Amino acid sequence: MPNADLIPLLPEEELARRTRRAESPHPELWSILDGVMDPEIPVITLYELGVLQDVYLDDDGVHLVMTPTYIGCPAMGVMEEDARAALAAAGYTTVTVEMRLAPAWTTAWLTPESRRKMAEYGVAAPSGENIQCPQCRSEAVVIISEFGSTACKALYRCQSCSEPFDLFKAI
Ligand SMILES: [Zn+2]
Repeated sequence: MPNADLIPLLPEEELARRTRRAESPHPELWSILDGVMDPEIPVITLYELGVLQDVYLDDDGVHLVMTPTYIGCPAMGVMEEDARAALAAAGYTTVTVEMRLAPAWTTAWLTPESRRKMAEYGVAAPSGENIQCPQCRSEAVVIISEFGSTACKALYRCQSCSEPFDLFKAI
């Protein structure tokens, strides 16, 4: 059955990332990393978040390529440690991590599924200009603070249901 959510055009770099995974000669490495969650939004994986860019194996061991959600994101260190731990648990102990800063991460890399999971967790992700309350979908929202529970989120309040929520900042 066709999935209508997949029809909108993907950013080119996101399409390339999905192709790397689909055509990887080591799908087990991607599967292992599907067990690694974003420490700040622990309902989505590093792959779903768009941080995991590539993973491959050569004579030097495993190479892990990650793009931070924003430069200096303090959660990146935790993500790297968690990814290393998951690979080590599966027997891959020689791991080289490369931080790829360009192209920069963008919320456009989040899949509709990732956005839905984030909203259920109470974190809104902007799509275009519209910011929606993750509780009631109202767009009557006001910013309370440029910094929410972490530096990469802003704190908003919904004027319809009065609930505060974190917004994952668009970059
Ligand atoms: Zn609301």
